[in-house]
Amino acid sequence: MLVHAVLDAMVRPRASGMGAPTLERSTVGATALDRPSATPSPVAERPVFTRDTRRGSFDPLTGLPDRAMFKALLDRALGEDGAAGRVAVLFFDIDRFKLVNDTLGHTLGDVLLSSLAARFLAAAGDDVFVGRLGGDEFGAIVQGDDAGDRGIALAEQLTHALSHTYEVGGHELFVTTSAGVAVNENPSTADLLRKADIAVYRAKAHGRARFAVFDPEIDELSEDRLRLDSGLRRAVDRGQLTLHYQPEHDLHSGEVVGMEALIRWNHPHRGLLMPADFLEIAEESGEIVRIGAWALGQACEYLRVLISDGHVPGDFTVAVNISATELLHGDLVQNVSDALHESGLSAANLKLELTETVVMRDVGLSIETLNDLHVLGVHLAIDDFGTGYSSLSYIHKLPFDTLKIDQSFVRPLTGPGDERALAIVASIVYLGKASMMQVTAEGIETAWQHDYLRALGVHTGQGYFLSPAVPPIEFEAYLRDQGGSANLAAA
Ligand code: C2E
Ligand code: MG
Ligand code: MG
Repeated sequence: MLVHAVLDAMVRPRASGMGAPTLERSTVGATALDRPSATPSPVAERPVFTRDTRRGSFDPLTGLPDRAMFKALLDRALGEDGAAGRVAVLFFDIDRFKLVNDTLGHTLGDVLLSSLAARFLAAAGDDVFVGRLGGDEFGAIVQGDDAGDRGIALAEQLTHALSHTYEVGGHELFVTTSAGVAVNENPSTADLLRKADIAVYRAKAHGRARFAVFDPEIDELSEDRLRLDSGLRRAVDRGQLTLHYQPEHDLHSGEVVGMEALIRWNHPHRGLLMPADFLEIAEESGEIVRIGAWALGQACEYLRVLISDGHVPGDFTVAVNISATELLHGDLVQNVSDALHESGLSAANLKLELTETVVMRDVGLSIETLNDLHVLGVHLAIDDFGTGYSSLSYIHKLPFDTLKIDQSFVRPLTGPGDERALAIVASIVYLGKASMMQVTAEGIETAWQHDYLRALGVHTGQGYFLSPAVPPIEFEAYLRDQGGSANLAAA
């Protein structure tokens, strides 16, 4: 199934990159992705490198110069002639390579890398230095009077040439690359490499399978994202990620019956970052799969501690949010089983929250994974209900047992006068209850909203009126304030 997901993503080229390209020459250039005419010769048959170098070596997998040698060559090119506009660096990054590795395994990932390297070398031409910069990144150096123009032309030509169907272990993978071009403004190697990296980032952000040329005016934002992206890759290992917990109250008894885990990043320079600051970046890079597995483990472990310390009853639930990438490309079922197994928590203690949009991205695959999770015994909640594109026709096919009314429907509830807002919420509650789901409201900010939702029969609720998401230590204090004994009595 996962192989299909990858093939789906890779066999069908993106519509935006096909046919007549929309070339924004000065910024981002799409490629037509047509088949290259040149057949690459194997790397081994080619004299890869003519100039000698004292630093670096050749990458054993592809036979191309490695990153150290590439940098040494760039140092030398800039040292020989570092006047502005004389050296261009091109970076190429395989689109969605992580999916190939994660799904088909590293051995087949390596097969793809070597085939692509051979094609890269053949298409680059003899007057261009090429190298493998690490992972799925390749680089090229163009030197001379017209380095900028030649660099851009080469980026366009190579993104065409590398976009190809590769035969990998019996799978036909349609692979595209994104490229970034930077032309030197000064003799600094680090500056040029950084700019080429930022340009690739923008090419990816514009839809992949294209190249972008570094532009200081528009790349400031990308640079910021790039920094966050590389910081995020280390954040889990460095213990910078943390979960805050927002209590979920039974609106009728008033008791705290569960909590939602909400991620935060304690950034070493920027302070506490919210999900909106970094989750999209984590999704884009695929890092969300690792982060999500971490969050599952952490949240389950924390609830186990709360139960064993007597802070909450044994049927308390913890809700963890699941992103599209985790649902469609990660080992979600395995990660959930691991988190339960390692914490010793029962599946009934865990709730997974997925938005409609996440589920609708690939209904077939989602149903399969959600059914597996349902069999495990975990609760499944539709988060932000009513904001995604409608899943009404699927609602009965998906094993959700909880519907969370999005805060955008709760916010307009300002008093008895607003009949329309009241009717919308009432009908969502009716839909949830008629479908035998537990109905939860999020974003309750006022007493009036709280009382109205309770009167409608909404089972549980969250929101600033009750408590925001807080760090564990404050959450425990909150539980004590709420009267932990009442909770335990209800268990
Ligand atoms: P969500 O799951 O719908 O979470 C509710 C968001 O509303 C949270 O924002 C919460 O702090 C905020 N909120 C709670 N009560 C109120 C209220 O009364 N008024 C208002 N205005 N907001 C309230 P937060 O923590 O910034 O999270 C935003 C979103 O990020 C979450 O939306 C969820 O989709 C995502 N997210 C958070 N943690 C994770 C995670 O560990 N993994 C994944 N994949 N997504 C996460
Ligand atoms: Mg949620
Ligand atoms: Mg929500």
